[in-house]
Amino acid sequence: MTKIVSLAKRRGFIYPGSEIYGGLKGTWDYGPLGSELKFNIKQEWWKTMVKNRDDVVGMSTSILMNPRVWEASGHMTGFNDPLIECKTCHQRFKADQEDVIAEHENWHKEKKEKVDWTKVKKFNLLVETKIGVVEGEKNTVYLRGEITQGVHVNFKNVLSSSRLKIPFGIAQIGKAFRNEITPGNFTYRSIEFEQMELQYYVKPDKKESMKQYEFWKNLRMDWYKSLGINSDNLRFREHEKSELAHYAKEAWDIEYKAPFGWKECEGIHHRGDWDLARHQEFSGQDMSYFDEETGKKYIPWVIETSGGVDRAALFFLIDAYSEEDDRIILKLNPKLAPYKVAVFPLLANKPQLVKKAREIYEMLKSPIPQFPNYPITVAWDDRGNIGKRYYSQDEIGTPFCITVDFESLEKDDVTVRDRDTMKQVRIRVEKLINYIKEKIC
Ligand code: ATP
Repeated sequence: MTKIVSLAKRRGFIYPGSEIYGGLKGTWDYGPLGSELKFNIKQEWWKTMVKNRDDVVGMSTSILMNPRVWEASGHMTGFNDPLIECKTCHQRFKADQEDVIAEHENWHKEKKEKVDWTKVKKFNLLVETKIGVVEGEKNTVYLRGEITQGVHVNFKNVLSSSRLKIPFGIAQIGKAFRNEITPGNFTYRSIEFEQMELQYYVKPDKKESMKQYEFWKNLRMDWYKSLGINSDNLRFREHEKSELAHYAKEAWDIEYKAPFGWKECEGIHHRGDWDLARHQEFSGQDMSYFDEETGKKYIPWVIETSGGVDRAALFFLIDAYSEEDDRIILKLNPKLAPYKVAVFPLLANKPQLVKKAREIYEMLKSPIPQFPNYPITVAWDDRGNIGKRYYSQDEIGTPFCITVDFESLEKDDVTVRDRDTMKQVRIRVEKLINYIKEKIC
């Protein structure tokens, strides 16, 4: 982890939030490369979950909502973590994080200090804020604790403004906020983070809903694998009945084998009719669906897939990190790599080489019709020796490096070097775009 954190900072993936002021625990800022990585993850997710499907549409809802939403959703009463406080140093921990508690106890023991804990208390995770301009008349609202509710409160709006029929889904990507007691493990547990979620509405039928549940569970696992995470580092874990969230009938996590243990990356939840039934009860609005085939009304059940963008980014980084001989390589799937290619003139002080390399750089960056992944991100580097430039690109996961040398001027071709194999091939410039396209799509 130390190596990942250091690489992330050094190369512009992730910095501590508001660092020049000493930071703010549990917040992180994504730099030039980190924001590309996150963008690529979200784009791949949106492609799989929305664009490539006829039965799913997208939404983008508000972070601030009427506080009644959180009463209805159960977050005012059910969104609690068990909290204990160390009486010696007053640090607070989640009572169910045994490994963290044991570590804390050892830390005191090593310093020959005694450790004593308070009783377990419930601690609400919703982050409060105030809106209104007049002091004394401000209203308390909450930064959403999950992006889920924005979708459910709009169920009828989407239904009446589209031609969707059950089963169908609504997808959303956006920020959520939680007053985490123990933020940590780099970005793994943050106070502010992004979620990518699907709420899939199905008939209230056990067999049918479980069929859908299995489908989405497997699709989500395959998504991580298809983007390069080693299958040995992924597993499903079923929630014990005692750890089920207040809304869940059934829950499985997709877990990743992180350096700090097997950790949740995404949850697949059978939410039953919890959300719509509660919103119907609390808002007094009809949240049911009219089934034209049977002529009956019902409150649909919901299958949810809920993943974290930040956790995915972290796990993709960890999984891609490797050291071979004296080089560090991020073996990121080309679809996720911040830069797809880098272009180098062999020597920076030879204007003909720089000119030709610049032309290739511009050509690769220009949009190409019928090719959705274009324009692509292209890096330019003309500093230092070529070996160092290769290593520098390996470390940020750039799959291909293109070098323009003297032969290029005569033969109109370039050297393309593969990040993982380090093999180099000469490709004619006119074939370059197709060559790159095939490799990164
Ligand atoms: P955990 O048990 O780790 O606290 P959770 O079960 O509360 O997570 P969910 O409420 O199911 O998490 O949220 C769905 C997803 O949102 C999680 O799988 C995770 O990827 C992401 N997520 C939740 N809390 C955080 C957080 N504090 N920081 C970063 N990502 C988070």
